[in-house]
Amino acid sequence: MAQGIPEEVMMNTALIKDLADVAKDAALLQGVLMRIQETPNSSELVTYAPLTLFPTPVPKAVFHQAIEVQTHYNILVDKISQDPDFLQGALASTIEVDDFIARLFKIHQQILKEGRSQSIILGLNRSDYMLDLREDGTSSLKQIEINTFAASFGGLSSRMADVHRHILNVAGRLEESQRILNNNPAAGLAAAIAKAWELYGSERAVIMFLVEESQRNIFDHRYIENELWKRNIPTIRKRFDDVCKTGSLDQDKRLFVDGCEVAVVYYRNGYMPQNYVSEQSWDARLLMERSLAVKCPDISTHLVGTKKVQQVLAKPGVLEKFFPEQPEVVEQIRATFAGLYTLDMGPEGDRTVAMALAAPDRFVLKPQREGGGNNIYGSEICQVLERVKDSKERMAYILMDKIHPTPVLNYLLRRDAPLKLTNCLSELGAFGAYVRQGKDMVLNKCVGHLLRTKSAEHSDGGIAAGVALLDNPLLV
Ligand code: ADP
Ligand code: MG
Ligand code: MG
Repeated sequence: MAQGIPEEVMMNTALIKDLADVAKDAALLQGVLMRIQETPNSSELVTYAPLTLFPTPVPKAVFHQAIEVQTHYNILVDKISQDPDFLQGALASTIEVDDFIARLFKIHQQILKEGRSQSIILGLNRSDYMLDLREDGTSSLKQIEINTFAASFGGLSSRMADVHRHILNVAGRLEESQRILNNNPAAGLAAAIAKAWELYGSERAVIMFLVEESQRNIFDHRYIENELWKRNIPTIRKRFDDVCKTGSLDQDKRLFVDGCEVAVVYYRNGYMPQNYVSEQSWDARLLMERSLAVKCPDISTHLVGTKKVQQVLAKPGVLEKFFPEQPEVVEQIRATFAGLYTLDMGPEGDRTVAMALAAPDRFVLKPQREGGGNNIYGSEICQVLERVKDSKERMAYILMDKIHPTPVLNYLLRRDAPLKLTNCLSELGAFGAYVRQGKDMVLNKCVGHLLRTKSAEHSDGGIAAGVALLDNPLLV
């Protein structure tokens, strides 16, 4: 049977040292790049994005399962975004205690009240999974979360296949090299954005990337921008501050920023409370949401990506409401759910508290936050729960079964870090893209994958958070 990288390669210190140099240059040549931390807003000094030396074995069946369920997840996200009663019910407890989600929810309600001005919907998301090791040694695909807002690394991951192919060629592992899959999320994400732009129907209108203050990961965006420019679709990069200062709506609610009519707002910023530095940033968000521009995502779809919604979806009978005549779709989606538990006030939430306190290592405690580094693990779960268990504050969290992937040995390459054999855990993401116009789903695809790998000593993840590294699946 086909396998991963053999031990004689992994343990050959001289070879590994050479390969690490080869790998860094290959990443630079392929454009797997990041700006350096010291100068995040200049491309004068750039480095390779953190990457693994070797690809990581992933069983074929689970890989295909993740790819195949993605179009159903796209539909699910889209259906929930159109169901205000469901969102209200799911998030009612959260917004009582979480000011950030409450604020987003308020915008969502205001838009509903005014009536949505745009019937074109553009969804770009990434559903992330870990492979949970079963007792019989096989592994099952379990969703960690779905990101409906600013899901990143579709650009850089489009160049990663050739990096690992080259490393394996140099290592004399041709057979493994040929097993690295083609992957081009950048093209697929851009195609969906282009479709939304075309439906908006104004040649002069631009795609606006709403970007962060600190833009270390700009190359990831550039791949998508450049795909759009290739199609003669103009793109601009603006910050919240630019929208505050120069944004306006005309009488038809067309959005203008810096004199350009905006067909699509592609948010790559705005998912953390700290992204909204002032009341003006919130005003800018509201302005964009009220506009005729296609929002990726719109405010409702943003809320669908919360961990609270994920937990509510796992309750018995909920998926059935969204797919009343498709039990096979319900089954396919539900098969990827891990155990998720409410912390709402009441007997069910009380049971969750007791269960977590009794065996904290079996769970992850999650607040409604994004971007890595926010979850709570191990004994800290007890500290937090002891503090909040008798108050409504506990409703800001959900509890989730901890997933246990099989650790795999690899070498992790990042700037200024020593090269050493490391026990690693991986997370597989599937990129979803869809475009809907009114009732017509005009595009619904899985446009590629992402494998991120981290040292097993870290509980949490995230490449931008400085923990995870780019990788490729090696199907076995
Ligand atoms: P974020 O939105 O911040 O990315 P995630 O839910 O993806 O939040 O959690 C961040 C990281 O924490 C993941 O990339 C993964 O490494 C780890 N993690 C999250 N949930 C689990 C889980 N149920 N079991 C094991 N690890 C988890
Ligand atoms: Mg995540
Ligand atoms: Mg997330």
